[in-house]
Amino acid sequence: NGSVVIAGAGMAGVQTAVALREQGWTGPVTLLGAEPHQPYDRPPLSKAVLLGKAEDSAFDVDFEGLGITLRLGVEVTGLRPADRELDTEAGPVPYGVLVLATGAEPLTLPGAEGVPGVHLLRTLDDAARLRPVIARAPATVVVGAGWIGAEFATAAREAGCAVTVVEAADRVLAGALPAEVAAAMGRWYGEIGADLLTSARVASVEAGRVLLADGRELPAGAVVVGIGARPATRWLAGSGVELGPDGSVTADAHLRTSVPGVYAVGDCASFPSARYGARLLVHHWDNALQGPRVVAANILAGEPVETYDPVPYFWSEQFGRFVQYAGHHADADTLLWRGDPAGQAWSVCWLRAGAMVAILAVGRPRDLAQGRRLIEAGSTVDPARVADPETPLKAA
Ligand code: FAD
Repeated sequence: NGSVVIAGAGMAGVQTAVALREQGWTGPVTLLGAEPHQPYDRPPLSKAVLLGKAEDSAFDVDFEGLGITLRLGVEVTGLRPADRELDTEAGPVPYGVLVLATGAEPLTLPGAEGVPGVHLLRTLDDAARLRPVIARAPATVVVGAGWIGAEFATAAREAGCAVTVVEAADRVLAGALPAEVAAAMGRWYGEIGADLLTSARVASVEAGRVLLADGRELPAGAVVVGIGARPATRWLAGSGVELGPDGSVTADAHLRTSVPGVYAVGDCASFPSARYGARLLVHHWDNALQGPRVVAANILAGEPVETYDPVPYFWSEQFGRFVQYAGHHADADTLLWRGDPAGQAWSVCWLRAGAMVAILAVGRPRDLAQGRRLIEAGSTVDPARVADPETPLKAA
């Protein structure tokens, strides 16, 4: 059976199908997606789509012209590798090669599921439900000061909502950035008139209000929960595909899973990075663009010819700022500021053993582009020059 079947029709699934055709795969390609909508891009959901500035964000891909069979509204419920078959609501689907691209699903707030006025923000349907809500400008409580919380708070303020953000950690982006960087970014909430409550725990959510563990009560015409996402891999239980403790499919360096003929890519999969000496689970758009090219190349060759070891990259638009990040700073030994964190534009660079390993750029896209090249090349840099925002970033 020379057919490729892709489970999940989001960015990673669509890009895998497109990359297969671009690279010359002539066999059948089938894309199975649980959602009924034409495949779409998620980043605009917390930005233009939410504010009604864009109607939708469907990918501009001619599936028919590319000979890609698109089966929408079909949820995959199981995998039987011995039979080389997927189970779906619409019956079994045989495959020759299978690509897992089911993405991630948002974590829900215990006790808040099903309470009227409580929303998540992951799908087009979520954004379509939220759009008329924020247009009415209710008092809005955002749970979680991560990337989604920051972007949603920005959009809700723009729509005129009074916004209170409740964060359990003592700072914003606690899982992503060190305290001194997070402190600078936490100040942006106040600038747009959003209240940020850190070290604040939600005790319960009721229709119309949120109660905090310290007894405070927040009026809430709408509640948006943005507390993270986990790989959408529950359907793989018992299939023999190995999953990590974080729920990700533990792909190898060629994005192959533990089951022969089965690959995994995008938000659902982690991979070993030789570059960073760690297994990475990346929940960002660029990973769902780059990974599929490697998967397609390996499928075409019929053997592992390409390795996936990217410098991760993502961006966020929040509080009127363009924030970009490249690299991975977990084992950095030096943090250098480039510019004034109280200003509109600055960067932070992370070094390890004299080489740049990561950069966060706020309103400084040139720093990002230059820094990304240094990180990719593993170049050593002169810390004094790096710390001078007037000097371009270049190798020592
Ligand atoms: P997904 O986009 O989650 O797609 C997976 C698809 O598989 C979904 O359509 C799902 O319905 C389907 N599926 C799941 N389970 C099954 C099943 N059992 N059977 C069939 N189909 C199934 N990243 C950035 O870098 N910058 C940004 O500014 C940014 N903004 C974002 C804003 C929002 C609101 C969100 C939600 C994400 C944002 N991201 C951003 C992250 C980026 O969108 C994701 O990393 C990317 O969508 C991952 O693509 P994916 O295909 O792996 O997963």
